Formats: sequence, structure tokens, C-alpha cells
Amino acid sequence: MSVKERFLRYVQVETTSCEDSETCPSTPGQWTLARMLVEELKAMGVRDARVDENGYVYGTIPAKGDHPARVGLIAHMDTSDGVKGPTHPQVIPCYDGGPIRLQNGVVIDGFDFLPSLKGRELIVTDGTSVLGADDKAGVAEIMELAALLTAPDAPEHCTVCIGFTPDEEIGRGADRFDVPGFCADYAYTVDGGPLGEMEYENFNAASCRVTVRGVNIHPGEAKNQMKNAALIAMEWNSLLPPAEIPAHTEGYEGFYHLCQMSGDEEQAELVYIIRDHSAEKFAERIATAERITAFLNARYGEGTVACVIRESYRNMRELIETRMDIVDKACAAFRSCGVEPVISPIRGGTDGARLSYMGLLCPNLSTGGYNFHGRKELIPVSSMEKMVEVLKALVTGA
Ligand SMILES: [Zn+2]
Repeated sequence: MSVKERFLRYVQVETTSCEDSETCPSTPGQWTLARMLVEELKAMGVRDARVDENGYVYGTIPAKGDHPARVGLIAHMDTSDGVKGPTHPQVIPCYDGGPIRLQNGVVIDGFDFLPSLKGRELIVTDGTSVLGADDKAGVAEIMELAALLTAPDAPEHCTVCIGFTPDEEIGRGADRFDVPGFCADYAYTVDGGPLGEMEYENFNAASCRVTVRGVNIHPGEAKNQMKNAALIAMEWNSLLPPAEIPAHTEGYEGFYHLCQMSGDEEQAELVYIIRDHSAEKFAERIATAERITAFLNARYGEGTVACVIRESYRNMRELIETRMDIVDKACAAFRSCGVEPVISPIRGGTDGARLSYMGLLCPNLSTGGYNFHGRKELIPVSSMEKMVEVLKALVTGA
């Protein structure tokens, strides 16, 4: 099987994860894919290939030759629920550089990167769902590498620990990852975008829930009596820096993002997410939320406003920076395959960040795909093939 054939096979297993589900994996399709991957690994001769009771797939390819390192490679099996439904992949054998017309009037056009893909073989959807290159491209690339390393003519390489996780898209991918059992010195998630992308910085992240308790009274008799919770909630929001929202920020700029609001005179609620790459600025943002709360309580009476802040994940940069050789090795692997690595901060989180704080340092590598989480998702076959080469360089050089 080629990496392309593997990819086409895996995307046809529907593995959309589901936030409302309490099981792990959250959806049955992920079991189907997990079992399929274990069977394939076993057929390659990966003797300890297994799926655990939570649907995590693990397998180890022992070193060949004198390579003491143990390098982990991780991808997630679930796909985003951005557009639900089974995936019907379409192969464009030689892309002409023009608009790509899919079903339902969906047209892939106007993206800066499109002209550079002219002449390539592309895989797209039929326009009815996501493609799921996020992250089945990562799965297929790791599986193809496993096939290369278990073949009789395999090059010398280090020990490769393989992990496929469920439910990354709903933020649970790292929850039940068996870090001690995985037994890698360090790892990489293969879950990034265009070929050459590499990431080891992500947001520090928290959720912030503001609740306002008002005092309601007949509006005709409300003078000096009413405390309108909805208005106080709006006042809370008005005290945030107005430009520090997702629609006005990029790169290393952090933000407050209002993602839910509800309320009346009696009670009001605002839900935010707070994000910043810098730990210092992140702490300042949280302090700002607390200051606004204290200010409004001083104005309207103690207990009027409450603000509960929960940390979601942290930037892995401070941990990775203690082991920059892990980043350097990946850069060298890219370069040895003729790909110039592009390191940029993730404006989000990754399972790798969570795993890094669980004791497994884990930067993120590209898969080669574009436009994740939408109907216009696509991946060039040559990028997947190149990523297999990069992964091979990584484990033969370690
Ligand atoms: Zn992903």
C-alpha cells in the first residue's frame, strides 16, 4: 500500500468526534479505525500493537542497528465535526491551477497557496464533508513509515513508538494517553498544516465565566433600586480592551473572546476564552478580568459579579526550550529532504502541549494538508510522500 492508498482507506472510516458523548472514544467509528490500524500494524510485524480500553492505539518498532533513542510519533484518529457526515474523497490527478468545483456549489478558489499546487495530484472532498486530512494524513504518514521500517530492506533506525489517539478535536486526546507505557524519550505529533510547518509554541489558555446577579423591580418604581444584571454584564465587557479580540489579533497577540452571553434584569452570564502565548501577559489578562470584577462589585455591591477562571492548557514553549535539540532534529530532517522548515506559534492548543506537561515533550510537525475543519480541505499526495521521507530521516538520524 502507498501512503495515498492508506489515506484514502482511512478517510472513508467516519470518525467525527462528538463533544456531547461521555464515552471514550466519543464515537464508535473511532473504534473501527483503531482496530483497523492495529491489524495493519500486526500484519507488518509490530508485535506489541494494541488498542487499549479507551481506544488509544500503541505499537513499538524496535531499533535496527545501534540507535539508543526512543522517538514517539503521534496522530489523532478523530476528525472535526465542522461539517458532519461520511467523507467521499476525490482525487484530482493533475491540478490545473484553477478553481476546484465540488458538489453543492462549493468552490475551492482564492487561496494564496493554490497556484503553487499546479500540476500536483490533489485529494479533496466531494464538497459534502471535511476531508479529514486533519489528522488522517498524519495517521497514514506514520503507518507508511511503519511499513518502511518493518520491511526486510529497512534502513537502520532508532526505536519508534507509535501512538494514535481518539478525540483530539474535542480536547480530550491527551486525557488518557499512557505516557509511561508509551516509553518514548520525546515525541512529535504529526498534526500540522502545509509541508514544512513546525510548531512548539501554543497559547496559554483559560476559560472565564462571569455571572452577574441583579435586583429586579417594576421599572416604574425602580429608581435607586434596580440593578440590571444584563446592563452590568455589558459594562463588564466594555471594560475589556476593545481591540484585543480574535478579529483584531494575529501572531503573538493574545485576546479575550466572548463566546456566549445570556441574561435579563435578574441574572446574566458571559463566557469568554482568554488566550496569550506569553505567560506574563496571560497572567495580566486574568488579573484584568479580576480587577473589572472587583471594580463592578465596588460600584454595585459585593457579590453582584463573580468571575470563575479555569486554566485549560499552557504553552509548551517553556518546556521545549530546555530541549531545543528535539526541534533542531526535526528541522534537520526537513532540510535533509529539501524542505525548509517554517516555525510559527500556534494560535490554539495541541495534544502535544498537554503531553509535554504530562512528561512527554512533543512539538508538532506538518502533515501537508490545507484548510482543515472545512469542506475545502485538501492535501497534495506529494506532500504526504515527502512527510514520510521526513519522518524516515527523523528516525534514521536519531
Ligand atoms: Zn488535528
